[in-house]
Amino acid sequence: MPLLLLSLDDTLLDRAGAFRAWAADLLGRIGAPEYDLDWLLDVDADGMTSAWDVAEAVRERYGLRIAAIDLVEELRGAIINRVRFDPLTACALAIAEDSGWVPVVVTNGETRQQEEKLRKTGLDRYLADWVISEEAGVRKPNPRIFAIAAERARMRLGGAWMIGDSPEADIGGAAGAGIRSVWLHRGRRWSERRYAPTRTAEGVIAAIAQVMASR
Ligand SMILES: [Mg+2]
Repeated sequence: MPLLLLSLDDTLLDRAGAFRAWAADLLGRIGAPEYDLDWLLDVDADGMTSAWDVAEAVRERYGLRIAAIDLVEELRGAIINRVRFDPLTACALAIAEDSGWVPVVVTNGETRQQEEKLRKTGLDRYLADWVISEEAGVRKPNPRIFAIAAERARMRLGGAWMIGDSPEADIGGAAGAGIRSVWLHRGRRWSERRYAPTRTAEGVIAAIAQVMASR
């Protein structure tokens, strides 16, 4: 039985879409120009920046009086409320499980936030387990986090695949751990020379299909 490791944000759940919707709404409310959306997306860096740093950057740029903690809570809540788990992705996971794959999420982030996303969307019911960097004490691309995922599923890491959207965290991480990977390009070009994904796909469903076809 092979292990199927997956990133959470922008792989199984559309965090970028949820962040963009919140950001556009916020900028509208404070009367900022629409083109500041690109600035805010850059600041967020697909969630690589902490919510606290995003809040601080927004407060500073617009001289807002709202407390940082309120902005942080608003952002976290908005992401939780806006992310959706595509039922077709659920089907793809179920099909993979039926044919023996064991899906485990490996995600960088805060335990509370990531677990709430998993539970609220119902994605938790399609997973054998998950590893969140905060509780694991180690982040992707550190190969140790992939080993922890295998331990939790009581499986060997050998033969596993990693599916993810982040070149460094997911694909660099998989390369470091010695496992195969599928990169979700999201319209980007691969530019890293030190490592490369085994396969590239447009979305997670196509990626799961490619992994299943590899056996
Ligand atoms: Mg991701």
